[in-house]
Amino acid sequence: MGGTDIRTTPAEPRLVRPTLLRAFLAGEYLSLGILCFSAAIGLLWLLFGTASPVASAAMITGCCWTAFRAVGGMAGEFRAGWVSACVTAMALLLWLSAVRDVPAWLATSWASPATLALLSSVLFCCDVLDIRHVQNQHITPELRRRRDGLRVVLVVCGLFTLWGVGLPIATELYRQGPPDSASQLERMALPQHIGFRCGEAFVTLCFFILGANIGSFLNVVAWRLPQGRSIVSGDSCCPGCGKSISRRDNVPILGWLWLGGRCRSCQSAISSRYPKVEALTGGIFLLFYFLQLISGGATLPLRTINLYRGVLWTVMFAKWDLIGLYLYHCFMLATVLAAVLMIHDRYRLPRRLQLFTLTLAAISPLLFPTLILIPAFPAIPTGSYSATHAPPACLLFSLAGLTGGAAAGQLFSWFSQRTRMPSEQLLPAGDLKWMFAFVGAVLGWQSAATFLVFALALLLFCRWLTDGSRWGPAWLLAALLLHHATWRLHWIWIPTM
Ligand SMILES: [Zn+2]
Repeated sequence: MGGTDIRTTPAEPRLVRPTLLRAFLAGEYLSLGILCFSAAIGLLWLLFGTASPVASAAMITGCCWTAFRAVGGMAGEFRAGWVSACVTAMALLLWLSAVRDVPAWLATSWASPATLALLSSVLFCCDVLDIRHVQNQHITPELRRRRDGLRVVLVVCGLFTLWGVGLPIATELYRQGPPDSASQLERMALPQHIGFRCGEAFVTLCFFILGANIGSFLNVVAWRLPQGRSIVSGDSCCPGCGKSISRRDNVPILGWLWLGGRCRSCQSAISSRYPKVEALTGGIFLLFYFLQLISGGATLPLRTINLYRGVLWTVMFAKWDLIGLYLYHCFMLATVLAAVLMIHDRYRLPRRLQLFTLTLAAISPLLFPTLILIPAFPAIPTGSYSATHAPPACLLFSLAGLTGGAAAGQLFSWFSQRTRMPSEQLLPAGDLKWMFAFVGAVLGWQSAATFLVFALALLLFCRWLTDGSRWGPAWLLAALLLHHATWRLHWIWIPTM
């Protein structure tokens, strides 16, 4: 990393000295240690019922605060004194209330542990943000990214523990209350319950990792396809020195953070777009995993929501129709994301990508009729499986979706020209027609129409908010996500006849 830290211009922020950096890193690891310790103690307290959950949370908050303060002090900057003082006072009060009975003066409504915990957590967040701001001014970007990598791992581990261990323990505590509320799951012994929840958390993690890996693939697609290069052969390589990137450094999100955003061999900067796209795709997969898959299809229109929901009943005892719909819709969202990336890079969408995706979307309902949720025309009875899913109805669905979508794309192109947007920001009409036709073929022509309404609303909102240049084509993806997440909700406003 030699040489990269030396800045000569006085305008640059002062970088922290190496000894302070080492102290800062030591503080960072110390804070992790304290965090783990206090979380364990808090859980033990919860488990043995010697303290209220609020008090345990407060203790964890207090420990976190101490650790962060220590780090802030070591980094050589001490600010936000009053905020820290308030947080300390509240954490101490709550800690006190945890080890003995809550004093009468503390039990009044305005100073109840719940109020104090709420306030202290708000103040704590302010404090953390403030320290983070100060720290970020004084450490190198590479170090910051490596620290962020550590935090990503920690957050994932924390969420995993919360789901896998925290949830069963909370259920266990709840079970000590009214016995009649105990369901099948709550009758499990604690170790079994922890094992079961850890399994659930693992499945959820797998879906995020799947999304992040597909995001990694989308980066490759958006980079190579417009240049006419193959997307299946050839390792990913550094754009700077051309050396292929090792498997270890190619881990989505974390690879980039651990490398500090630089190539291992030539130290040239790697764009932060790669981890962002990976995180975004992972996030989209996770969002619809919760909204559409393990909810038993709660966001899907004209479909009875599954009685048995959750990870166990939808993924482990696989409900293939629901999983198929989820994967098919994720494929659509990922394809639109790749297209958005290409349009953002000012490439025209390759003809073979358009043809391939449209063909796939057109024939999929014929091969898997359960992918159709909304019949193309109201005359086709919705309740009758055979009528909705017979080959002529499937063909009608695809054709109506393609033509309706293309018309919606044409309309959108016409409308966006009317918003007096600078001509270089206008999206090519052909690409717009493809995107709407693709959405129409996957979700039905009705969705292409509602997608058009959502996209126009977002376009006008973004035009009103900014000059539009910062948003690019991203609001098209945003409109589609919004449409898909609220599909069942806005569908009930459209008469089905
Ligand atoms: Zn390189």
